[in-house]
Amino acid sequence: MTSLSDIRKTFLDFFARNGHEIVPSSPLVPRNDPTLMFTNSGMVQFKNLFTGVEHRDYSRAATAQKCVRAGGKHNDLDNVGYTARHHTFFEMLGNFSFGDYFKETAIPLAWELITKELDIPKDRLLVTVFHTDDEAADLWKKVAGLPDDRILRIDTDDNFWMMGPTGPCGPCSEIFFDHGEQYWGGPPGTPEEDGDRFVEIWNLVFMQYEQFEDGTRRELSAQSIDTGMGIERVAALLQGTNDNYATDLMRRLIEASAESSNTDPDGPGRTHHRVIADHLRSTSFLIADGVMPSNDGRGYVLRRIMRRAMRHAHQLGIDAPLMHRLVPALVAEMGAAYPELPRAQPLIEETLKLEETRFRKTLERGLRMLDEEIEALPEEAPLPGRAAFRLYDTYGFPLDLTQDALREKGRSVDTEGFEAAMAEQKAQARAAWSGSGEAADAAIWYDLSETHGATDFLGYDTETAEGQI
Ligand code: ATP
Ligand code: MG
Ligand code: MG
Ligand code: MG
Repeated sequence: MTSLSDIRKTFLDFFARNGHEIVPSSPLVPRNDPTLMFTNSGMVQFKNLFTGVEHRDYSRAATAQKCVRAGGKHNDLDNVGYTARHHTFFEMLGNFSFGDYFKETAIPLAWELITKELDIPKDRLLVTVFHTDDEAADLWKKVAGLPDDRILRIDTDDNFWMMGPTGPCGPCSEIFFDHGEQYWGGPPGTPEEDGDRFVEIWNLVFMQYEQFEDGTRRELSAQSIDTGMGIERVAALLQGTNDNYATDLMRRLIEASAESSNTDPDGPGRTHHRVIADHLRSTSFLIADGVMPSNDGRGYVLRRIMRRAMRHAHQLGIDAPLMHRLVPALVAEMGAAYPELPRAQPLIEETLKLEETRFRKTLERGLRMLDEEIEALPEEAPLPGRAAFRLYDTYGFPLDLTQDALREKGRSVDTEGFEAAMAEQKAQARAAWSGSGEAADAAIWYDLSETHGATDFLGYDTETAEGQI
């Protein structure tokens, strides 16, 4: 069986043989970019090389990069438990050219890796190109011998990458694997493309232009390549499944969750185990990279992921905190590739245990309140914003946790009502403070908590600097 570690090694060895410097994964908290919540793609650590601000003594690199997509523009939190191919934490394999090779080399390298090194059958593959990118389409035809109906021309943003409103940008070409008719879904560009039949495995970005403030573009003199391949998705297809959660590593985490809770991994708690396995990885890696649960910024996103997982653990019907007991299984799976994980193991276990012990005190009562509210509602009616706010304010339920809990029951939250309740409470608090002579300070404090303590923290999410692939 081809394991995740085999794929990582095959990928990095192949690009090393082809003149690439193997660069270690950068931390999940980006060092060079305060506007970005978490590292969400391989190119993040190389941004300054692409823009020409920084130079290194290599012009080709390859990485296996830790990524988290749980906030900001790329937020896959709501996909976990619902699709077979999304995680909040995943590893992105990538090769990069900084003004060195371009499409003419990137496409043949990608094709050789997937069809020769990884032995993925050619007749299950299809590719997309940006609709005007004849060059890429011709290369795919020539290099891969793919027929025209498997080189799809897409005219949306999905196939045009931009670093920000200005700066490097260019067309992308994505490689998809067809898992077969037994699964629901359609090829890219069709209304059914979000199914789990046609799965995107690799995105090749061609940084071809520079975009200016007035909207004009010119060809870059140093054209670059940025690619990203999801290792878990490749592991899935090589292991004969379309489901990332059925692969060796994820399966072992799911089994650890099932054992620790004395439940069936494939029984009624199936989705809970999947969410727990996923969130165990993202929370542990975030703590290992120095993020701690808090009420603002990155720490609040971490807390939201932790609490979501803890609700799922609670749904399995167990009394004691669960998450910290799963850390050894994760360290056994990933500790060799990521030494920061065993190094931080005691801190991760302590943090998870403390947070879960605390949250359990209000979790059960909050869930009971939620059930009562729902029972009193007409069928399919959304939960009133005021109730969601009380869950937030009194029981520590981030809004997205409440939404996640309700989605299982086919219901939603009146988010406008929630925001209104939040605003109302703030106005009351301000009024209560106004006689104290400290009104100005209080206003600042409430503004801060408004920005940072809000349920959907977006403070770092600017339209600029976020790497899209
Ligand atoms: P999708 O359309 O499936 O959400 P994407 O277009 O958002 O993927 P990119 O930004 O192009 O993904 O990232 C490059 C590669 O990283 C993807 O081709 C995929 O293999 C992998 N990838 C992206 N998001 C995830 C995720 N949440 N979990 C696992 N792998 C992912
Ligand atoms: Mg996506
Ligand atoms: Mg996509
Ligand atoms: Mg993509």
